[in-house]
Amino acid sequence: GSQQVDREVASVCPFCGVGCQISYKVRDEKIVAVDGRDGPANHGRLCVKGRFGWDYAHHPQRLTVPLIRREGVPKDPYALPPAGPDALAATFREASWDEALDFAAGRLKALRDTHGARALAGFGSAKGTNEEAYLFQKLVRTGFGSNNVDHCTRLCHASSVAALLEGVGSGAVSNPVADVAEAELVLVIGANPTSNHPVAATWMKNAARAGTKIVLADPRVTDLGRHAWRTLQFRADTDVALLNAMIHTVIAEGLADQAFIEARASNFEALKASVAAFTPEAMEPVCGVPAATIREVARAFAAARSAMILWGMGVSQHVHGTDNARCLIALCAVTGQIGKPGSGLHPLRGQNNVQGASDAGLIPMMLPNYQRVDNAAARTWFQDFWGTTLDPEPGYTVVEIMDKALAPDADPHKVRGMYVQGENPAMSDPDLNHAREALAALEHLVVQDIFMTETAWLADVVLPATAWPEKTGTVTNTDRTVQLGRQAIEPPGDARPDLWLIQQVARRMGLAWHYEGEHAGVAAVYEEMRQAMHGAIAGIGWERLQREGSVTYPCLAEDDPGQPIVFTDRFPTEDGRVRLVPTQLVPADERPDPDYPLVLITGRQLEHWHTGSMTRRSFVLDAIEPVPTVALNGRELARRGLVAGQPATVQSRRGEVRCHVRRDDGTPDGAVFMAFAYAEAAANLLTNAALDPFGKIPEFKYCAVRLLP
Ligand code: SF4
Repeated sequence: GSQQVDREVASVCPFCGVGCQISYKVRDEKIVAVDGRDGPANHGRLCVKGRFGWDYAHHPQRLTVPLIRREGVPKDPYALPPAGPDALAATFREASWDEALDFAAGRLKALRDTHGARALAGFGSAKGTNEEAYLFQKLVRTGFGSNNVDHCTRLCHASSVAALLEGVGSGAVSNPVADVAEAELVLVIGANPTSNHPVAATWMKNAARAGTKIVLADPRVTDLGRHAWRTLQFRADTDVALLNAMIHTVIAEGLADQAFIEARASNFEALKASVAAFTPEAMEPVCGVPAATIREVARAFAAARSAMILWGMGVSQHVHGTDNARCLIALCAVTGQIGKPGSGLHPLRGQNNVQGASDAGLIPMMLPNYQRVDNAAARTWFQDFWGTTLDPEPGYTVVEIMDKALAPDADPHKVRGMYVQGENPAMSDPDLNHAREALAALEHLVVQDIFMTETAWLADVVLPATAWPEKTGTVTNTDRTVQLGRQAIEPPGDARPDLWLIQQVARRMGLAWHYEGEHAGVAAVYEEMRQAMHGAIAGIGWERLQREGSVTYPCLAEDDPGQPIVFTDRFPTEDGRVRLVPTQLVPADERPDPDYPLVLITGRQLEHWHTGSMTRRSFVLDAIEPVPTVALNGRELARRGLVAGQPATVQSRRGEVRCHVRRDDGTPDGAVFMAFAYAEAAANLLTNAALDPFGKIPEFKYCAVRLLP
């Protein structure tokens, strides 16, 4: 606008994986506005979160002093953090940095020395930088001494990544979002991009205007349906039925790309045999989509000059999430729709840095760059690189760590101490009463964050960290583009950079770490990570990032412009081929029944981000969506005598919440939808912790609930 500003600082939006480039407008050392820049993902566009979600950084509830729990104050897993400073002071006392860091690291070290390496675990963050993720996993692996390190990708695309690593040999996208402009047909399944990847959605809508056929497949009919050529409102939980019927159609009607399959796929005969029974006519009563429509869409997908699949958590967050993604890979492979412009597989990444945090090794079974911890050669390389010995056993995942915190005292792998950096599992885990009990049961919990989150409330020591505009570092978006965020303002009070804090904990646990340079040595950490990444970002040096701001990997040399489209000639699998994996119908873990007759689908909404800790403290965003709601369609409301706006209680076998009823006619019959951003009515009190056996992702998208007035 016309406001005078002191400076403008080029950075990246801190919210979703689209990775829009922004400019912070700073006046009197405060951010006063944000504008879009001409980045590769956004070309100046921003959504409401990017535009208005910045004032959380100046919120009066920011943590500014290290806090230590007062002697004898119990941890109450059923209480939420109070808003006022007095109630906070009754639980925590202020401490110096030396005292807080000595206490944080000293008790972690004592637990490790008494009970062994497995007694500790760490949750890093997909909201932090690549450098933080890299150092955090290095601390757990070389300082704690085990692979008990994970982060929220476990809750978002772990199943997609499991299927992609198995099928195509890489967990990242094959083509960028912008490729929708090159596609003749785009299948968007289990995603609501208008809310969750809003600027990506604008490219889809622009493509539709230019003639691209959009197919929206989702149990909920969302905004993108208004732009879609066909909308397949399949029954929640029946992805495999719908997708196998499409694959069946392609093969049975002779539409498969035989040349591609012969040259580049393996296991086709097994896939063909397994989908033989999945006729559209047999699957219509299962998935609720007319057989003729399934055939029509399958034919269009196969016949398209180029066709692309984008998917979200609606695919991944099921006990059969890996199977769902296997079907998507198979559909692309049998039609030859991969390895060329406007085609391929794009799991829409949720967090701003979920791709980068995973690449950097914040995963219990993988070292940086997806090198398996149980692969002796990979482990040996990292042992030499880091000058230490490494645990050959994969660690526990997010939900497993919570179970291990509640394990009996005699369990040799009981988790007793944790370090949580920038994650809020007391809101984001499934079955929150269980997760909060687990956090409260820990003998020592260190939480590093910018607010007194629901997780920090259960901590023994809280380390006040920096918000995104207060630090410099890199993040990697859904398109595999590494982007530089630059510090725009100073942190409040005595808050410190995350990268500095991780190093302080490491040194106090006995690690001889020295990363010199400004911004807590971020350039030195980046350059070490670049070596650990084995080539993928070899051509993306720190200096180049300062110059160019963003580069897409794989990027093998300084003069390589980066490769937005991969798999053009071979797949990075052992035999260079895409592996087809047959799937069968697996029902949800908890089906509706007479006691709990409705299906609960959880997700996000446009204005609020994940557990709400940032966006609910952003004035404009909270003003637009101020209260938690449960959405039903008009038929379901009428059937129950409910009126939109009135309060209701939602109950599952695990918990209950009270919130306002909302009418949303895109919600399917027999289902309700809730966003998980609201602490006062946390949807995850209701959800089911049942896991997909491959990706270990919980079933956030399906459990049984009932509604009471
Ligand atoms: Fe930020 Fe995502 Fe919105 Fe872009 S689309 S402004 S990255 S939240």
